[in-house]
Amino acid sequence: MIAFDFDYYKPSTLSEAVETFQLALHTGKQAIFYAGGTEFITFARTNKKRADVVIDIKGIPECMTLEVIGAELIIGAAVSLTTIVESNLFPLLGKTVQRIADHTSRNKITIGGNVNSHFIYREGVLPFLLADAKGMIGGKGGEKILPLEQILNEGLDEGELLVQIHVDQSYIDLPFSTIKRTRMSKTGYPIVTVAALEKDKRIRTAFSGVCEFPFRSEKIETLLNDPSISKEERIKQVIDHLPGPVVQDIHATAGYRKFVLKNVLTDTLEAMEGNG
Ligand SMILES: Cc1cc2nc3c(=O)[nH]c(=O)nc-3n(C[C@H](O)[C@H](O)[C@H](O)COP(=O)(O)OP(=O)(O)OC[C@H]3O[C@@H](n4cnc5c(N)ncnc54)[C@H](O)[C@@H]3O)c2cc1C
Repeated sequence: MIAFDFDYYKPSTLSEAVETFQLALHTGKQAIFYAGGTEFITFARTNKKRADVVIDIKGIPECMTLEVIGAELIIGAAVSLTTIVESNLFPLLGKTVQRIADHTSRNKITIGGNVNSHFIYREGVLPFLLADAKGMIGGKGGEKILPLEQILNEGLDEGELLVQIHVDQSYIDLPFSTIKRTRMSKTGYPIVTVAALEKDKRIRTAFSGVCEFPFRSEKIETLLNDPSISKEERIKQVIDHLPGPVVQDIHATAGYRKFVLKNVLTDTLEAMEGNG
């Protein structure tokens, strides 16, 4: 049960959604954008999150798009993970999000919800980091398109929502690998997830579960692509150059995460060599 009342809106246009948010702000109400709702409902039930106004974005056509337009794959932020998997339009993305939660939850969880999640994992972000994806943001100043990595680093301003993610078609069919290791079940939170893509004979890698945020690192890719050092040494150096402290929680100690990361990186490099 949710122990507070809220007004629920389901606008059919982007401008209506943005205006509804602004109206709530001006009347001193707390508003949130709502997509699959799985995270909001979980937090609301335990009083960790509250809202006076809930704006469901699934009625906005731009947020439900999933198609190739010109040279880009356009993915609406409110498209469910199941729909993405079944479309097979971006195999690396499909294979990565297929390991998030169980099938019933994936029917509800949206890609925009995953990208904007308060959890540290946000595994759906990894393929987009590798593919230099762009995000379309809607807000009171209209729409703007920015590199998704910039959006992740800087965050959205209050009242802004992620409308779409754009991926250049040239990335869609590149060789890839995506490996997830959990503590127990096939679909649990990741101890380590590594997604990789080969572009212009260089391996790109993105990580979830290792640090408090999903990331891609230029330093790590330089190390991994250095043919002058052995594979074992490259992997050791990657683990010495992570962009933040390694997560230590109920799922795994930092030491165990590093051990799993070493194995996953070995498997990733082997898989990528096998692709070539
Ligand atoms: C059973 C289960 C297992 C899970 N396992 C994993 C896992 O293994 N790996 C992993 O990465 N995640 C996992 N998750 C987390 C899940 O991906 C996130 O909680 C995600 O936010 C849920 O998406 P949603 O569409 O239901 O979000 P919602 O509850 O609708 O929204 C979540 C947050 O994002 C904001 N938001 C949603 N859409 C937008 C948008 N378009 N623009 C701006 N803000 C927006 C909302 O305001 C809210 O703050 C799991 C969740 C469940 C329920």
